[in-house]
Amino acid sequence: MRAMHVVVCVKQIPDPATPGELDPTTKTLKREGKLILDESDAYGVEMALQLVDAAGGGEVTLVSMAPNSEVSGLRTALAMGAAKAILVSDDSLAGADALTTAKVLAAAIKRAEPDLVMAATESTDGYTGTVPEQIAELLGLPSVTFASHVEVRDGTLSVRRQTEAGYDEVECPLPALVSVTAGVVEPRYPSFKGIMAAKSKPVEELTVADLGLDAGQLDPRQEIVEVAPAEERKAGEIIHDEGDAHLKVVEYLEKLKVL
Ligand SMILES: Cc1cc2nc3c(=O)[nH]c(=O)nc-3n(C[C@H](O)[C@H](O)[C@H](O)COP(=O)(O)OP(=O)(O)OC[C@H]3O[C@@H](n4cnc5c(N)ncnc54)[C@H](O)[C@@H]3O)c2cc1C
Repeated sequence: MRAMHVVVCVKQIPDPATPGELDPTTKTLKREGKLILDESDAYGVEMALQLVDAAGGGEVTLVSMAPNSEVSGLRTALAMGAAKAILVSDDSLAGADALTTAKVLAAAIKRAEPDLVMAATESTDGYTGTVPEQIAELLGLPSVTFASHVEVRDGTLSVRRQTEAGYDEVECPLPALVSVTAGVVEPRYPSFKGIMAAKSKPVEELTVADLGLDAGQLDPRQEIVEVAPAEERKAGEIIHDEGDAHLKVVEYLEKLKVL
């Protein structure tokens, strides 16, 4: 059995339980204060820990791009059992778009030389759902997306890739990138021992310059020109059953052309 080195992308986001706030000037989400582990990424961390166990040993490294040297979300994933983390934090990355984020994460991942890169299919706040594939493209790795089941045997990645009709069985050689769906595994809760150990696990903090990237390469290719509140959802139609509710429902569905 060969030890496995898995790198997991971990986004740290404003707590979705508190309403997000937009910066009036940049029109981007304010990301000050404490950030938390994006729940979508807890599945990637858990899957990586299980793959390393199944390989009989190895290591899970976390990679995150976040402002203000923020590590709270990383400490949660370290408490789950990851060994160490790489944090890229640089004021020049404020307002980064998905491509810029992918370039930064790809440069950090390249330094770690992993056998496998994991990410969630989409984040909870920006959810462009494009960063993992852009990372794979930049690193020249095969990418398998929407994984609902992941196995590694003798250097080959086997994935059940979720589709609308069910799933495809996909295989490819390592190194590779896989994006996992929520529910692929049940993330473990960090134990008290894990939380204590996480406090002293290494977090290497890097700037854009440390990655050998120059700011010019990272200019966002998009500008947010306007932000408007989403239309409020209208109340649904209430059908009172006077013996003909089924007819009214059918009529309503026919109007929607779903029947
Ligand atoms: C409301 C909102 C709307 C946005 N709209 C756009 C847009 O239309 N176009 C655009 O280019 N950008 C947009 N952004 C910015 C974009 O969200 C960020 O640049 C972000 O870092 C990457 O994109 P994402 O969250 O959409 O990633 P996704 O592709 O949805 O993320 C998938 C996975 O990639 C990994 N990942 C993503 N970001 C990081 C990170 N910073 N550190 C570590 N792992 C990470 C995680 O595993 C994550 O689960 C938006 C941001 C917000 C908050």
